[in-house]
Amino acid sequence: MPEGDTIHRAARRLQSLVGERVYVEVPHPRARAAIDPAELDGRVLEAVEPVGKNLFFRFEGGRVLHSHLRMSGRWSVRPAGTARTGTPWLVLRGATHEAVLWNGPVLELHARARARLGSDILASPPDFDAMLARLARADPTRTFGESLLDQSLVAGVGNMWLAETLWEARLSPWRRLGEVSEDERRLALETAARLMRASLEGTRPPGHYAYRRVGRPCLRCGARIRSHGQGDANRMAYWCPQCQPGPDPVSAR
Ligand SMILES: [Zn+2]
Repeated sequence: MPEGDTIHRAARRLQSLVGERVYVEVPHPRARAAIDPAELDGRVLEAVEPVGKNLFFRFEGGRVLHSHLRMSGRWSVRPAGTARTGTPWLVLRGATHEAVLWNGPVLELHARARARLGSDILASPPDFDAMLARLARADPTRTFGESLLDQSLVAGVGNMWLAETLWEARLSPWRRLGEVSEDERRLALETAARLMRASLEGTRPPGHYAYRRVGRPCLRCGARIRSHGQGDANRMAYWCPQCQPGPDPVSAR
């Protein structure tokens, strides 16, 4: 699943089209159900803005195209007119380059989704106070891990960065949000922003400390990393039961 850093990377590549008049093709029939190319074709692309796991393309005249990549979507940017095989969802063609969306299951032509999203963890600088304010109003009985994955509270953190962040910050995903202090919440947000920024800049070495390391020894204390599904979507949490003390998810849920 693309997380915020993947989206920011795509947004950087897409900046090559910003300021250009773009020509729009919608080859994929499912995309055509969502987008009328005539609404965008020939307009100047004014900005490409990543927010969490979403990309917003702002066109002249106030048109906004929203793309969410879900599990499989991918934007590629290459020289205009490059041959391709397969049926992309959308092609935005500028003077020298074109952006091609493959498998992009969420596309819409309005800005409503923007209002539902929390502050972007990869904004520079991230607005931690805004995220903390949303967390302060959120359901205190939900687990901390689930709360941080809620894109309406904090935009951009997915499973993998959640596991790495909470391991780094030594915080359990299983404590109730209401039992996590403001300082701990801030620590988790700052840690997520730092790790994801390093990944985006290419300064974080590859590899994981908790994510998908179930049953293997914690690289800090040697205890075995555990995993358990969390939240309504049952997304897998990974944590070290020794350095990240908290309730056991089996008895907590
Ligand atoms: Zn440990």
